[in-house]
Amino acid sequence: MPRKNIYVTQPSLPPLDEFIPYLEQIWSNKILTNNGPFHQQLEGALCEYLGVEHLSLFTNGTIALVTALQALRVSGEVITTPYSFVATAHSLLWNGLKPVFVDIDPNTCNLDPTKIEAAITPQTSAILPVHCYGNPCAVDQIHNIASTYGLKVIYDAAHAFGVRYKGNSLLRYGNLSVLSFHATKVFNTFEGGAIICPDALTKQRIDYLKNFGFADEVTVTAPGINGKMSEINAAFGLVQLKHVAKVLDQRKTVEARYRDALRDVAGIQCIAPHPDAEGNSSYFPIFVRESFPLKRDILYQRLKDRGFFGRRYFYPLISNMPMYQSMPSACRESLPVSNVMADQVLCLPIYPDLEHEIVDEICSLIRDAAHE
Ligand SMILES: *Cc1c(COP(=O)(O)O)cnc(C)c1O
Repeated sequence: MPRKNIYVTQPSLPPLDEFIPYLEQIWSNKILTNNGPFHQQLEGALCEYLGVEHLSLFTNGTIALVTALQALRVSGEVITTPYSFVATAHSLLWNGLKPVFVDIDPNTCNLDPTKIEAAITPQTSAILPVHCYGNPCAVDQIHNIASTYGLKVIYDAAHAFGVRYKGNSLLRYGNLSVLSFHATKVFNTFEGGAIICPDALTKQRIDYLKNFGFADEVTVTAPGINGKMSEINAAFGLVQLKHVAKVLDQRKTVEARYRDALRDVAGIQCIAPHPDAEGNSSYFPIFVRESFPLKRDILYQRLKDRGFFGRRYFYPLISNMPMYQSMPSACRESLPVSNVMADQVLCLPIYPDLEHEIVDEICSLIRDAAHE
């Protein structure tokens, strides 16, 4: 009998019966949205779990990114990475901002901090780095550059739920950090997101912005948007949160099994865990080097033929997409590392209850291919 297909991820879902009482409460109090009781509870619970002081929930991570840029009144040019999900750069275009792509560090797949300064112009107002795969950016170096040049820093932390850096939440770095709770992320509310804010005043401004700019019934303080999370999503988040520690534990076990089995395969490279960080095992990317007998796309197809659906995150590069490719900073010659990584990356399936036999089977296929 053919085995079921294995995809790169499978959303974590709590037992349905744990969710029902929450729904009953919504049905009885008839509060569906607009900072209702579950919304407030989830903001508090997430602050506590993540180890941050202020957080504003959103309908999704992309609207949260768009709003974060509005909240800090970012203008002109923004330095960012081409090696990310499209929403990172799209959030700039939706604000009429100009993305300036800077190459990545091959050891982390994050913005290369030594290349940022050369990209700063009088129009630069902010840096939008991504903690790619949940691995911390060079946060201290980025902080120093931003202070020197008076730039804002907004981290796209869509992959970084629960990641700790030097003993504290990674989300405390930068002026703002943005999370995604999309179905495919480590912690999901079906759709959802959040902005981590440094102080109550910033959170208040962001809360107004996500509610059309309303400060009270008759006062509109800014041209805001509708970015609110509903009570259903917030309630679901509260149930999810009860299971997230176990989810992270199970993911860690899967990651360790991949690392063990692929450690000494010639031509296959993994990203080394950051020495100062506790990660979240959100992705397991491998890089199929020139020295490997098969090209990345051949290996990708071979795994797919056996029912193992990896994903080429992040291929194609944002800078090679039609709406970005004509920008001066998007040319391939100035982004050599990003282009190589995008051509070699393959994210292998990883999720909490991925059977260990499946991991072993995927690793055997890769190991066998290495000897062809
Ligand atoms: C998922 C993701 C987003 C967008 O989040 P949504 O909640 O899907 O809108 C933004 N940036 C990165 C890096 C992502 O992976």
